[in-house]
Amino acid sequence: MAALTRLLRSAATSGSTARISLSTLASEPKTVFPAGLAARLAPAPTRKERDERNVQWVFLGCPGVGKGTYASRLSQLLGVPHIATGDLVREELASTGPLSQKLVDIVNQGKLVSDEIIVELLTKRLSKGEEKGESGFILDGFPRTVRQAEILEGVMDIDLVVNLKLREDVLVEKCLGRRICSECGKNFNLARINVEGQNGQPGMYMPPLLPPSGCMTKLITRADDTEEVVKERLRIYNDMSLPVEEFYRRQGRLLEFDLPGGIPESWPKLLQVLSLEEHHEDKQLAAA
Ligand code: ADP
Repeated sequence: MAALTRLLRSAATSGSTARISLSTLASEPKTVFPAGLAARLAPAPTRKERDERNVQWVFLGCPGVGKGTYASRLSQLLGVPHIATGDLVREELASTGPLSQKLVDIVNQGKLVSDEIIVELLTKRLSKGEEKGESGFILDGFPRTVRQAEILEGVMDIDLVVNLKLREDVLVEKCLGRRICSECGKNFNLARINVEGQNGQPGMYMPPLLPPSGCMTKLITRADDTEEVVKERLRIYNDMSLPVEEFYRRQGRLLEFDLPGGIPESWPKLLQVLSLEEHHEDKQLAAA
């Protein structure tokens, strides 16, 4: 992974996206890929690669769709780190480092941080993980531009890209209902989504994800979760990140997943399309 972090850094600054395969990081794709997608992923990892590395997945999706929630659940299930570039940006904002001042206006206006800065933050996070012996990852919120996707493509193999989808009116409501506990850092949602079906799409109900009483008095709202900024983030997603979906769709690596409702409905279905139900049951048995 040291090679990876060096390469990420140099690709971001030099513009080079030469393909370099890091075969020391590995996955067990036959346990995780939906049948149709598995056939389209190339090249198939060798037995040695499969045995040596964990999954390298990307989660795409609009602000508020729940990338963090599902990526974090899957990372626990699969034993790989969940790396959210939004969290890396917020950590930097909370610090007194020189970058902090530079980032605050960009983030609070819902704009994207430059590719160079975001790659630098990701590289630092991967280096720290490497020191701790981490292998594999689920990336959340990266890549968000085609340039970032090309940089990533140049330095590592991405096994699968999951694209989570929800109606835009629901996305706005979910962002506005989002709260974070300032003490434990957990995410909650006060919104009760109950929308009628429209244009042939079914209606949807999502119960609020309420905090335990201990967190209730410590809830904070992200500065960029105001209606105006959420709408700007959605506009920027459509402008800059829809082409990233297309980038992976063309490669046959994109798994589209329309969320059918809240966590109780969506989580089992997501496990099913990822062929992970057994994995989940094994873990529950082990924990019993
Ligand atoms: P969202 O809820 O919009 O998906 P995130 O928590 O992923 O928000 O990111 C918060 C902010 O951090 C973004 O609006 C953007 O300013 C910055 N950011 C996060 N990831 C990236 C990225 N890959 N490229 C550029 N900016 C990013």
